[in-house]
Amino acid sequence: MPGDTPNGVAQTSQAIRLDSATGRKLFATRAAKATDKIAGKGYSIVEDEALKSLPPPPPGAVFDAEEQAKYRKFKEARAGAADYIRMEGEFARYLEDVYSDAPVPREALDDACEILVIGAGFGALLLWYRLMKAGFTDVRFCEKGGDVGGTWYWNRYPGIACDVESYSYLPLLEEMGHIPSMKFASGFEILEYCQLMAERFGFYDRCLFHTTVEETAWDDQAKRWIVRTDRGDAMRARFVVLANGILTTPRLARIEGMETFGGESFHTSRWNYNIDLAGKRVGIIGTGATAVQVVPEIAKVVKSLHVFQRTPSSIDVRDQRATTAEEYATWPHERDWAVKRRERLALISAGRTALQGNDDFLSGKVEQYKRARQHERALSPEEMIRAQLNSNFRIMEQIRGRVDAVVKDPRTAAALKPYYPYGCKRPTFHDEFLSAFNLDHVHLVDTAPTGVKLINRRGIVHDGVEYPLDVLIYATGFEWMGTGSFNMIRGLGGRTLKEKWEAEGTKTFLGMHSAGFPNLLIMNGPQGGGGQFNFTRVAEMHAHYIVWALQAVKARGAATIDVTREAEEEYAKHCAEMDVLSAPLRDCISYYNGDGKAKPGSLAYYGGGQRWHDRREAAQRSMAPYRLEGKVNEAVTKQALQL
Ligand code: NDP
Repeated sequence: MPGDTPNGVAQTSQAIRLDSATGRKLFATRAAKATDKIAGKGYSIVEDEALKSLPPPPPGAVFDAEEQAKYRKFKEARAGAADYIRMEGEFARYLEDVYSDAPVPREALDDACEILVIGAGFGALLLWYRLMKAGFTDVRFCEKGGDVGGTWYWNRYPGIACDVESYSYLPLLEEMGHIPSMKFASGFEILEYCQLMAERFGFYDRCLFHTTVEETAWDDQAKRWIVRTDRGDAMRARFVVLANGILTTPRLARIEGMETFGGESFHTSRWNYNIDLAGKRVGIIGTGATAVQVVPEIAKVVKSLHVFQRTPSSIDVRDQRATTAEEYATWPHERDWAVKRRERLALISAGRTALQGNDDFLSGKVEQYKRARQHERALSPEEMIRAQLNSNFRIMEQIRGRVDAVVKDPRTAAALKPYYPYGCKRPTFHDEFLSAFNLDHVHLVDTAPTGVKLINRRGIVHDGVEYPLDVLIYATGFEWMGTGSFNMIRGLGGRTLKEKWEAEGTKTFLGMHSAGFPNLLIMNGPQGGGGQFNFTRVAEMHAHYIVWALQAVKARGAATIDVTREAEEEYAKHCAEMDVLSAPLRDCISYYNGDGKAKPGSLAYYGGGQRWHDRREAAQRSMAPYRLEGKVNEAVTKQALQL
């Protein structure tokens, strides 16, 4: 029996108490930090101008047949090389939560709530803020980790920082009265910001940490989702929201002998700070956005560093800077400064221009970022793509030119040059990565086109050369848009979302609903658009949409919201068309296209931010795509709540 406490909150256990005002359960399951060694910073400010500039493109550079053939060869050589495994069986140890103490003990829950959200990253935090504002307060969150932050909880490697300017990436800056310390905040600062948001908005009381949802099944009679977790919970919820991220499940390269390695090893998303890298022989596999941030930082402490690369990343200029005294002084007095800045950033849709989007434009001091190029007549979509490929080629020439300008060893420089359209693989931004290869103890091992294929007890073997290592770091990335949860969501008739999509292709409406899965809403999922490359902006748009959907259900006294088959068929066709149209700009092997295996339109949305919003608004006006059904049956609801 719960015991009363002096403040009128009944206690059922240390972790669960009852709010006497609402009768609802409140939680205290946030786990303490595992070790004080988990600390760090992101990019330093680089003073050397030569390290933070791009050389001009060679005059007259065009993406002609010869250059196109070079790109094609680069791609074809790597076809079929990507081979990943999940961290299961003996590799499950790589998934251990190294950031928090042991889970807070609690009894299993067998009760009900109105809205259950999976995840506690920015998506969930933003959603909670919007739901709360709209009066939806019977909300519960389940999170695998021991604290909030999502991506920023799991990724705490040395050098971690955001690649979108933090003044536009961090949401609700005005509501929080916060100004980030750097233009590109470190991951540690971002994590702290998530914690501040959670504290300020009462999120911690509503979140079950160290709780992994294992099954979400629709009970059509009760019109409830039954949510089962690895903590033995069986909770009933009217609505379930998936807010568990786009790059959530880490993956390992499949490499012969990897289980025999005798040194220490871990994946970048579970950085083991108990292993001191100082004076060690360290190897890192992968050169994606993560490794690009890690390499310069750990190069400062290790004895030797071998970077095993299969495909070079494009390393663009970062130009990190601290927030200025003027910005600290003026922004707090400017109404909606952060919202306006974020919208201005969204106007510059490509990652590169956004990075370079000058501060005068972003802060509203000048109206135009740059003069828009005028064409004599409107270009056809094909002509537009050709023009984009040419300017894209010139950017890549600059990126390649930068490698030559910075990296002293010509063989290393040649291996570090990427040959694919800019943005085809995730662009990266750093001013110290390339120069790290000028250090005597940092070595690039070019494993193109196959990648690392052999590991033994002592280290990595490539091309007959053995590289003995004390520590092996996997910077081998994550599953993209395949959050691992789609195979455990059972909709009408017991079919999982994954089974549906495998049989029919990915089918959603706006990326937010999938027919046959009533009262399920997906944030930042496949085919979801609305915010360009700034994913917290996408999350914000999706949070607003979810609040609208819940209000629509409520206003009609309906029991469920679903979408029609026709609506999702048409939307899937649209997603595929948009993907195919812009495909020449993404003609390489990348996780964006499922390492070359994804069906067009099945992953990210390529229609552009505004087109998604136009479709959303049209749907909300006509209501034609939606099926709002049933009446809230009080008896059933009561029964569900009392079960
Ligand atoms: P990625 O998937 O981008 O990179 C994985 C790397 O591992 C690739 O370079 C891949 O090569 C390489 N690889 C895989 N198998 C082998 C092998 N057998 N031998 C050699 N190399 C191999 O993962 P990341 O963790 O770097 O980045 C994932 C995403 O996370 C980013 O794209 C970004 O969206 C996000 N992120 C964001 C950051 C930010 O905002 N600051 C920072 C870091 C990450 P290949 O290319 O040939 O397949």
